[in-house]
Amino acid sequence: MKYDLVIVGGGPGGATAAKIAAESGVKVLLIEAAEESRYKCCAGGIPIRNEDFTPIPKGVGEREITGGVLFTPKSGPMEFEASGKENKGYCMFRTDFDKYLLDVSQDAGAQIMYGARVKRIEINKGNAVKIIGPQEFQSECVILATGLGGGILQRNLGLEVPPMVNGIQAEIDVPESIVDEQFGNRVWEFFNRDLIEHGIAWVFPKSQTLSVGVLGKGAKMNHFEAFLKNPFIKEKIEGRKMRVFGGRKVWAAPIPDRIIMKPYRDRVMVVGDACGTADPILYEGIYQARLSGKIAAEVFYQAYEKEDFGDASLSKYHELLMKYLYQEELRYSYKFHHLLYHSGLLERIIEAAYTMAQDDPEMMQSTISLFTGSETRKHSWDVMMSRKWKLVKLLGIKNSVKLVPTLIKALRI
Ligand SMILES: Cc1cc2nc3c(=O)[nH]c(=O)nc-3n(C[C@H](O)[C@H](O)[C@H](O)COP(=O)(O)OP(=O)(O)OC[C@H]3O[C@@H](n4cnc5c(N)ncnc54)[C@H](O)[C@@H]3O)c2cc1C
Repeated sequence: MKYDLVIVGGGPGGATAAKIAAESGVKVLLIEAAEESRYKCCAGGIPIRNEDFTPIPKGVGEREITGGVLFTPKSGPMEFEASGKENKGYCMFRTDFDKYLLDVSQDAGAQIMYGARVKRIEINKGNAVKIIGPQEFQSECVILATGLGGGILQRNLGLEVPPMVNGIQAEIDVPESIVDEQFGNRVWEFFNRDLIEHGIAWVFPKSQTLSVGVLGKGAKMNHFEAFLKNPFIKEKIEGRKMRVFGGRKVWAAPIPDRIIMKPYRDRVMVVGDACGTADPILYEGIYQARLSGKIAAEVFYQAYEKEDFGDASLSKYHELLMKYLYQEELRYSYKFHHLLYHSGLLERIIEAAYTMAQDDPEMMQSTISLFTGSETRKHSWDVMMSRKWKLVKLLGIKNSVKLVPTLIKALRI
């Protein structure tokens, strides 16, 4: 069967691309390896700016989030209130969210095929693309939205696969009244290099569930088990059961660390985690996957109108990705990432930033926006750098001297 566009992967990146391409009237097929309503290992925290693409109905965005709590081994709870509509967010199960996004794209006219893993993609010079799975399809162009599960497809097409870190998570069954009382509408983030050298841990509240996990370079089961023993967590989840999904209580999944250099070739564009678009400050990638999916779908339509799916035509995707996702966002996330995770001062910087924010509304808002995306990463970086002497004072001379090489490297990114 022949389509104008085939999208491989039905996560937020693929579903958003499918909706936007279908809205322009082209014939779109999205092929998803998993069955309908699959479980996805993800904390499911999203900022309100996801509504740039589709409204989020009540029930899908299970719990509204209006603040956060930070912990380091020395300090915490360091609470912040994220008031105002632009600072709001949601915590939800990806099962519901991804199904909702796929339903929306189906309503827009995309055809969705579940339970079909694409095994091979062939690009024939001058001809259509062949997509080979349980069945064979043809299309003018392919969007790869496979998350980090499509490495073989990418490599076989001569495309890079992003570097990645590992996440481990469980969903703990907790009555809603207890979630309300003990966690409220807050995301809880833990920064502790003794627990995990290059990463974070979290508790994200849903309606009757807590997503509890760790993520970082080399994250393993022992890091997750150690986090469950954190006295603050242990006391609150003692005796509670982990929910079972697909026969498993604890799930592991990777998340990319960096965007790939060339996310396209003739007739192919790569979006979302497959392209490495996730933001490595707090390791969130849903919004970024959707934005890249939207851009790819728009570039596809321009190429479709010109009947030109060559490398030069699709390079527009990379250009727009750099403009809207890299220049003022990911580039600065990499600077923050470097400063936080490569300086050996993760906890000290978090504590100092929080202290500075207490009597500095601009610093507070720019810190909050690292969670909510309400301001660009460039803005948050500029605010932090304009207070670097205050930071030096709070870190102390010894730590500041230690910070200098990392800071110089971060400034060069
Ligand atoms: C533990 C953990 C916690 C996280 N928490 C958050 C968070 O709170 N907030 C946030 O924003 N991000 C979070 N993320 C990141 C987020 O999950 C990803 O960035 C996001 O899912 C990327 O979306 P995507 O559409 O690119 O890929 P995915 O969501 O991974 O979707 C890819 C889809 O492609 C399908 N697929 C793969 N290969 C094939 C194939 N060959 N044929 C057909 N289908 C295929 C898969 O089955 C999958 O459904 C977290 C990640 C992890 C690991």
